[in-house]
Amino acid sequence: MTDLAHGFTFPGITSRVIFGAGTLGQTAEEIGKLSRSRALVLSTPEQADAAKALAARLGGLCVGTFCDAAMHTPVAISERAVAQYRDLDADCVVSIGGGSTIGLGKAIATRTGADQIAIPTTYAGSEMTDILGETEGGQKTTRRDPSIRPEVVIYDVDLTLSLPAQMTVTSALNAIAHGVEAIYAPDANPILTLMALDAMRAFRDGLPRVADAPADKAARAQVLYGAWLCSTALGYVTMALHHKLAHVLGGSFDMPHAQTHAILLPHTAGFNAAALRDVMEPVAEIFGGSVGGGLWDFAQRTGAPMRLRDLGLSEADLDRAADIATRNPYHNPRPFDAGDIRALLQAAWEGARPET
Ligand code: NAD
Repeated sequence: MTDLAHGFTFPGITSRVIFGAGTLGQTAEEIGKLSRSRALVLSTPEQADAAKALAARLGGLCVGTFCDAAMHTPVAISERAVAQYRDLDADCVVSIGGGSTIGLGKAIATRTGADQIAIPTTYAGSEMTDILGETEGGQKTTRRDPSIRPEVVIYDVDLTLSLPAQMTVTSALNAIAHGVEAIYAPDANPILTLMALDAMRAFRDGLPRVADAPADKAARAQVLYGAWLCSTALGYVTMALHHKLAHVLGGSFDMPHAQTHAILLPHTAGFNAAALRDVMEPVAEIFGGSVGGGLWDFAQRTGAPMRLRDLGLSEADLDRAADIATRNPYHNPRPFDAGDIRALLQAAWEGARPET
């Protein structure tokens, strides 16, 4: 737990959150509470039907849809969306989808000052954070600012029932990674740690049930609750090695976001656990065994991908990935050098079970 004698800052939690089954129906009311009346509804092409159905439901409160959101928030797409937002004289965005769509909403908000209502349909956890990662010319840059954080988040369990099995599992592990990094962050605080650990219990209990029965609404709700807690925790702490490696593999090697997080998690958590036994002990208790080993067993049991090599990363790329990941200094609770990271990536590439 946080070192209480050392002290902590609790930053507050600033987004309004509505959680439950059927809560999508409250979107119009929430637009009104923000004193807005001209929403632009956002989605990916794959979820355009959901966006259009929501637009129809909002009636006169919606001025249009933009359904071209894409992974890693390409700036060219954001600029087109901003042009449409301005042409339509919209005054807020409603983002229905995963992290890609919510990222687009954030990109519009930073350029226009739009209020955001985020309606997450995966467990990736962008909706509660002040983080925006954007790509341009093959480079991904990430920035943080309180104005990036959505004003309102609507978690509707019904919208997660259609999330495919593989995406369900990898997205959940992506969320758990936020929780793990929150508990050892330099700006950790006891409330966020409670949230992160309760989230891990929810995933431990709920995810195997969802893997067995994807339409089990109670189990889906438990997992979505975990996703909310983890997103909140990530939104107020400094990220470390895990997120850095996922960022490098996504940004420089075009690796898929959720799967990459899922595979890395047992290795990054195990690496840091070796230096943080007290802080990480509750994680080991939740998943059983050692931190890395317990998370690895959990990932395997729920059907997650286990090896970076299966995502198309070549062994020859590992040297360059380790080099990029250690070029600039950043916070991590356990010091490391390029050799440590190269070894960690090798284990994740092979799918070896971590000892620690
Ligand atoms: P995604 O948003 O790219 O979604 C993947 C695919 O699944 C898309 O085609 C989407 O339309 C579809 N989909 C989403 N929900 C569905 C559902 N319920 N049913 C059927 N299909 C559904 O994937 P993601 O993992 O949620 O988000 C990844 C992106 O989010 C990355 O760009 C990542 O960088 C970003 N992200 C940002 C933060 C942050 O705090 N800024 C946090 C986490 C992730």
